[in-house]
Amino acid sequence: MSLKSKHIRLWVIIFLVIATIASAQSDAKPKNIILLIGDGMGVAHVTAAKLVYGSLNLERFKIMGMHITGSANDYVTDSAAAGTALATGFTTNNDVVGLDREGKPLKNIMEYAKDAGKRTGIAVTSILPHATPAAFSSHHKARYEYDTITAKQVEFGLDIMIGGGLNNYYPKSFRGSRRRDERHLLNELRDKMSVVTSYKALSQLKRVRNLAAILDGGHLPHATKRDYTLGDLTDKAIELLNVKDQGFVLMVEGSQIDLAAHDNDMDRVLAETLDFDKAVKSALDFAEKDGNTLVVVTSDHETGGLTLPMGSMENGKIVKPVFSSDNHTAAMVPTFAFGPGAEKFGGMYDITHVGKTLIELVKNNEQPCN
Ligand SMILES: [Zn+2]
Repeated sequence: MSLKSKHIRLWVIIFLVIATIASAQSDAKPKNIILLIGDGMGVAHVTAAKLVYGSLNLERFKIMGMHITGSANDYVTDSAAAGTALATGFTTNNDVVGLDREGKPLKNIMEYAKDAGKRTGIAVTSILPHATPAAFSSHHKARYEYDTITAKQVEFGLDIMIGGGLNNYYPKSFRGSRRRDERHLLNELRDKMSVVTSYKALSQLKRVRNLAAILDGGHLPHATKRDYTLGDLTDKAIELLNVKDQGFVLMVEGSQIDLAAHDNDMDRVLAETLDFDKAVKSALDFAEKDGNTLVVVTSDHETGGLTLPMGSMENGKIVKPVFSSDNHTAAMVPTFAFGPGAEKFGGMYDITHVGKTLIELVKNNEQPCN
């Protein structure tokens, strides 16, 4: 072989190696996924927070998308159907969590994550059996049957659960209990994992494998009435989950943006959106350092039909915001993405695209996607 043809062969080999590495990288799956859901957070909610607070961590993203949120049986989705779409990649009827329209269980991202050897967790500011967290940790036909959903979540076995809802765990005969049976789910939970019921106890924990931190009887206090933020809860969840080579999947929900918008309470919408933005900061700070974590921020639907017809750019003031509804609307909501796979979330699509794409990025290659 001549020296020239040897040279050509060497260059061909170098080119092939580079091409293989490049294509492997573009298909690379992130080790960790953090999905943050601002419940009810539409574009106007983000706009208002940006105008009032000046800068948001949401501005750190370079890739954005928009999605249509309607459910299988309604122009306007509820949080159960939308949560199911985000968790499983499939639409279902309003009121249903984790089942398809025929009542068949839909495999959710946490189940795919477990199959892939990943750790799993949720951190929310609502009660744990509320629609969004329920969609990521149970399968049930009726979102408000909290007794059953709470029991199903205990059996489901996430590694880390942080949120409210202690009264859904105590037997009916206990003061404050919201249960209609005598199951003591807190004791059942204690057989499986560490349990704490205050933020102080949670903040002092180190290296627990499985944990339920149930920090209030009902939903967590409003953002302005807590001495911790959703960012603090997200930091803790990441710390406890990030102990395994296979990685983790964490779902964080700013649950009360929606509740505040249902009440048409602009001050609370702003405070809850800011609290959620602190969780976005926690996730992005970790992902930037880690280098192998996908962060996706999205919403399940718009709440309140919020518009912002008057205000002042100079003073960061919103004057007379208008809520056209005390319920959800069909307005599109934004998605923001950072990290390996983020480019798949650019563009305009249906809500199921978010769940489907996340599952593709989580699952073992040999597993078919439902
Ligand atoms: Zn919702």
